Amino acid sequence: MLIRSRIVLPMTAPPLEDGAVLVSRDRIQAVGRFSDLRRLDAEVVDLGDVVVLPGLINSHCHLDYTRLMGRLVPPKTFPDWIKSILAAKSEWQESDYAASWLDGARQLLESGTTSVVNIESVPTIVAGCRQATPLRVFSHLEMTGVRSGLDPASILDRALAALRNLEPGRAGLGLSPHAPYSTLPALIEGTARQARAAGIRTTTHVAESHAESEMFLYRRGPMFSWLEPQRPMDDCGIGSPVQHLERHGLLGPDHIAVHANYLWDGDVERLARSGTHVVHCPTSHDYFGHQRFPLEPLRSAGVNLTLGTDSLASTRVIPGRRVTLSLLAEVREFLSKNSLVSPLEALAWITVHGARALGVDGRLGELSPGALADLIAIPHSGAVEDAVEAVVNHGGCVSASLIDGEWAIAPGESVR
Ligand SMILES: [Zn+2]
Repeated sequence: MLIRSRIVLPMTAPPLEDGAVLVSRDRIQAVGRFSDLRRLDAEVVDLGDVVVLPGLINSHCHLDYTRLMGRLVPPKTFPDWIKSILAAKSEWQESDYAASWLDGARQLLESGTTSVVNIESVPTIVAGCRQATPLRVFSHLEMTGVRSGLDPASILDRALAALRNLEPGRAGLGLSPHAPYSTLPALIEGTARQARAAGIRTTTHVAESHAESEMFLYRRGPMFSWLEPQRPMDDCGIGSPVQHLERHGLLGPDHIAVHANYLWDGDVERLARSGTHVVHCPTSHDYFGHQRFPLEPLRSAGVNLTLGTDSLASTRVIPGRRVTLSLLAEVREFLSKNSLVSPLEALAWITVHGARALGVDGRLGELSPGALADLIAIPHSGAVEDAVEAVVNHGGCVSASLIDGEWAIAPGESVR
């Protein structure tokens, strides 16, 4: 199949006018000008006035919380929010989580995401949900343990057993110790050791809130007071949350650190030195009113930075405006607060950088020969030099989405 488009934005090469992408089964065979590739014996699919670019990569999401949209008001303190989401979740059955998960997957597809790093809080729905969507879902099974009181070794064994029962499918599988405060150090340490030995990738929320930093650095604040009766606190008062992950071996090139809003002396260097990837979630960041994301130091240190949607449970609901999971909406929120970043760089965060964070650079996040055939089309009838702006400012559904060489949204159709 030869997909023709007025503009092709490969991300790892300059944009092409009257471009085309040659796809054979699940792979991209060639990217070039239509006039150069048309001679090849392939069915031509002409998408017309669109920009074709790599499918977007969402580096952090909780699909199963999609239907919590608007249910939780922005809290005074971070622990208040955790308490309110725990209360909301306690009213849900497995079927609610599954329906919510599938809603979220549909929203991501419509808005151009083709790969997502998803935190799975209900392992029993994962296999069925993954089969029901064409999205590439890199499912990371969440582990906590402070409330359940289970010992870290049993929590990890259960998660590893659940992982063994899942098919990697067209994406991959991983583990997610929830956060330094909601797990015990032995769980972080055991996960780091066993996941690495088995080649499993990991992701953790870290340094998200001021309350978390206060707890680990100074043994004080609302999170410390809330958790003191629930878990041993001897890992507090000896360093930052990022230091905590480093001490227990979790940082590394196979790890995605989520949020990293509140960094302490040396944390940027710890993340950079270890090759850890960092995902920033702009609308969630705005919802909680966190301090400014430490973009400049992380970027100067060479940390691979990506964007994620987080969940709709932590998204501000604006009356009269439909709120859905959308990476491009995250890019717009991000650019509105960070004028030093260009739209093209932000687009790289959700394509090339996202692929790097998943260890699949060269295979996803770019249109190049040999890469997997994941691409999206966004309407644009203007100049080639305005193509990136057009992509970033696009709201609503994409014109087409191809995942693994198959139409997830066929040209002219709605989401399947
Ligand atoms: Zn999250």
